[in-house]
Parts: sequence; structure tokens; C-alpha cells
Amino acid sequence: MATTEKTVAARTGEQFLDGLRGDAREIWLNGEKITHPLEHPALEAAARTLARVYDLQHEHADEMLAPAPDTGALVNVTHLIPRSKEDLERRRRAVELTAAMTAGLMGRTPDYLNVTFACFAGRSDVWARRGNEQGAENLVAYQREMRDRDLSTTHSIMNPQVDRTKPEAEQAAGEVALHKIGETETHITVRGARMLATLAPFADELTIYPGSDIRPQDGRYALSFAIPMGTPGLKFICRDSYSKQRDRFDYPLSSRFDEMDAVAIFDDVEVPKGRVFLDGDTEGYSEVISDTGWRGHIMHQAFTRAHVKLSFAFGLGHLIANTTGVGRFDHIQEKLGQMWNMVELTRSALVSAEAGSFLDEGGVWYPDDRPFLALRGEMPKWLPYCSELLQLIGGGGFMCTPSRADMDGPMAEAIAKYYQAGGADAERRIRLFRLAWDYIGSDLGGRGELYERFYLSDSWRMTALAYKLADKSFPESLVEQFLHE
Ligand SMILES: Cc1cc2nc3c(=O)[nH]c(=O)nc-3n(C[C@H](O)[C@H](O)[C@H](O)COP(=O)(O)OP(=O)(O)OC[C@H]3O[C@@H](n4cnc5c(N)ncnc54)[C@H](O)[C@@H]3O)c2cc1C
Repeated sequence: MATTEKTVAARTGEQFLDGLRGDAREIWLNGEKITHPLEHPALEAAARTLARVYDLQHEHADEMLAPAPDTGALVNVTHLIPRSKEDLERRRRAVELTAAMTAGLMGRTPDYLNVTFACFAGRSDVWARRGNEQGAENLVAYQREMRDRDLSTTHSIMNPQVDRTKPEAEQAAGEVALHKIGETETHITVRGARMLATLAPFADELTIYPGSDIRPQDGRYALSFAIPMGTPGLKFICRDSYSKQRDRFDYPLSSRFDEMDAVAIFDDVEVPKGRVFLDGDTEGYSEVISDTGWRGHIMHQAFTRAHVKLSFAFGLGHLIANTTGVGRFDHIQEKLGQMWNMVELTRSALVSAEAGSFLDEGGVWYPDDRPFLALRGEMPKWLPYCSELLQLIGGGGFMCTPSRADMDGPMAEAIAKYYQAGGADAERRIRLFRLAWDYIGSDLGGRGELYERFYLSDSWRMTALAYKLADKSFPESLVEQFLHE
């Protein structure tokens, strides 16, 4: 596709990096205040990976860019509100290309929130309920801004864990969870904290929207808005960096894919009213999650990425088994077969969701969410289980992994001889096992496993939700026919 600069809203990697060089932000990492992520060695590599994500859309412009319906400018297709089955298929392909770049390890590349806000804007009627027309209008305008500026955004939907047996508003006397403390004609003021905001150091903006239901009396906690990362009073405290500033040979994944997670702290932050989408409507707080179609759309994004990550895990297992010869044992084949089953069932769920997709009552094309609801409980178990299977396939080989420095040092000859495998020379075998260990065993690997268990809530609650939402009419009728004989 020929693109002229005038008509392209989608940013390049360099434009994204320029954005990060702009306004100072307040990021705390290991006691250090960081205002510009590119200037810190622990953050720079992931920022450059995200720049590659932005470049990717230009390399695959035919598949990843399309004109915005109102302006005609070329934007990433994940910003577009789907209006047909083809739109869903095109969006899946764009997400897949993005995910493949990091083997699915970066879960929160900007497409995640592009999809979320496109579906929110597509169903602004839900946001407008109970007199919130202005909030809905703000949201639609913000989604266009996100799209036209091709923003990198982070989000924080959960309040911190203080005492989960209590409603959020009652935990720590209601002072910890994000809440509104004041209002003027031009802005609202908010205070408190939210966990977590993945990608925070690499985002242009922070978005806040609901993550759980709240009680009718907790209106001051019922908030949704978006603000630039450099907003005064907005602070982020990062976990340890898992980014390894080592030769890429040693840590092929940790050296570039640590998307970082941080707690967001709002120290009396002023949010302009034009950026407030919801303020005080506790019913709306639940409805924008249940009634906008967010669930089906975000699972379309999430399981496309999960399919890529499962395929990567399967690829690792297959290549390891064929490198050390264990692939000839039938129980190893069974383990590889289990991994393939998970890949294939995920692919089938995507195909089935798209095949059964339909125009919802708000005019947005919606995937059939039933296969996704079933996967939402299973995926948090499948991906960690794949890591367990990889351990069983690779055995102690994960520990036979000299570093680049060893490979280049006086032991080079011994390594070439003693680390050879039936299916690969020493260097290829070591590369493969180091890659797999960085996936299952490094700090980043451990974080990846936790991410899969929780990033879309937990498996238990999601399986229970699937049961609650399931259409039970056919199963019931099968049983009922025998109860009336
Ligand atoms: C790596 C990572 C990155 C993340 N990134 C983001 C992000 O970018 N943005 C964002 O908003 N969130 C993010 N999250 C947070 C995610 O939304 C939450 O982890 C998830 O919603 C689960 O909530 P929680 O962690 O507070 O766990 P909790 O709700 O505290 O649950 C902990 C355990 O207690 C159980 N439990 C809790 N409450 C109940 C209950 N009422 N009944 C029964 N059991 C219960 C759970 O099942 C679970 O086993 C991230 C999480 C991880 C791990």
C-alpha cells in the first residue's frame, strides 16, 4: 500500500520514542526517580522493542493500517470499531503480527487498549446511561485522540490488595483505593492508588476504568478517565527490573521484552473534566464492562496473543525434544501432543468466535464470546502448564547453558565438543536451551507465568462466570425429557 506522510496517523518507532523524550514523568525504580525512560538502562531496551512494534505497522501496512472512517487518515486497524466479520479477521491478523514479534511475551503492547477503547467508543450509548452524555462524549473524543495520535497507553483497573474480604471502599478506611476528593468547574481531583499498570514507563497516557463491581454507596470510587503520564502528582513505583543488560545470546527475551509493572499513585491529581468518562455512577461502573461488549473484544485480542505464545511454547518443546532425541519417547510425544492440543483448541476458539460473530444492538460487530468464556478459565492454567511440560521435556539441559563469555573464552573448544547434541551443534543447542529457560525460568519467565494466571482476573472466578453466563437450555432439556416420562 502506498502511503503518503500526510494521510498516515500511525506513528513510526522513532515518533514513539520522540513522544517518550517529551514531558517528564515520575517513575520510581529501585529508589531512583526516572523522568525519561530512554535515559535508564533498565528501561531503554523495552522502549526500543515497543518502537519496533510501531515500525511493524508500517512494514505490514497492507494488513495493519486502514483509513479512519471520518478522517481518511491511515491508522492501526486495532483502533477501528469493528463493523463486519472481515474487520474482526483483519484485527486478529494485526494483533497476531504484533504478538509474534515478542512471541506473545509482551501482553500489553498498545493494541490491547486500542481494542478496549474502540469497543468502549463503539458502545458510547452504554456510557451515556443515567445522564452521563458528557462522559460518553468525552470518551468518544478520547478514543479518536488515541487513534489519531496513535498513543501508547497503560491502564489500571484494580485497587490495591489491603483486605480482600472487605469492599474496596472499606479497605484501609477507604483511603488507599483511588477516589475523588474534590471538584471545580474545570477538573476533578483524585487521590489513592491502583495496582497495576503494566507498560507504565513506556506509555504516553494512563487510562482508568472499572475492574470490579462496587457498592451503591461507593460513588466516589466509581471513576473512569485518562491523563498524560506527566500529569503533576501522578507517580509510579515499579517492581524490580527483570531486564538483563547482558548479551542477547545469554538472555534473548529478558534483554528486550520486560514490559514492566508498576503501582500508580495519585497524589491529589487534577483530571480535566473533558477527560472524565465516568464520575460517581456505581451502576454504570459495572455496566461499561458487562454491556459494552468489552469482554468479547478483549478476549479476541488476548487469545490471539495467547495462541502465539502457546505456539512458541510448543515450538520450544518440539525443537528441544528433537535436539536431544527425547522426541522418540512416547510419553514425550504425549507431552508435545498436549501442547499442540492447547494451540489447536485456541485457534479453533478464535475461528469459532469469528464464524459466529454478529452485529450487536449498538452497531458494533461482536465475536461469539462463548468459546472465549470457556478459554478464559482454562488459559491461566494452560500457559503455566506448558512451562511445566517444557521442564519435563528439557530436564537438566536447562542447566547446561554456558554464557556468551564462556563460548568466546578459553573453554570454547571444550564447549563445542561436550555440549553437542544429536540434533544440533553446541551453539544451537545452548541458544535453544537459554531461550527456553528465559521463557520458563528467568525472572521474566516467572513474571510471565504470573501474568497469565491473573491479567484477565483469575481462573476460578472466570470459570464460575462462564458457568453463570452459559446457556443451559440444551443440557437441561436433555435431562428434563427423562423427568417427565
Ligand atoms: C504481571 C501482572 C500484570 C498486571 N497488569 C495489570 C495492568 O496493566 N493493569 C491492571 O489494571 N491490572 C493488571 N494486573 C492486575 C490484575 O488485574 C489482577 O492481578 C487481577 O485482576 C487479580 O486481582 P488481584 O491481583 O488483586 O488478586 P486478588 O483479587 O487479591 O486475588 C488473590 C487470590 O485471592 C483470591 N480471591 C480474591 N478475592 C476473592 C473472593 N472474593 N473470593 C474468592 N477468592 C478470592 C483469588 O482467586 C486469588 O487466588 C496485572 C497482574 C499481574 C500479575
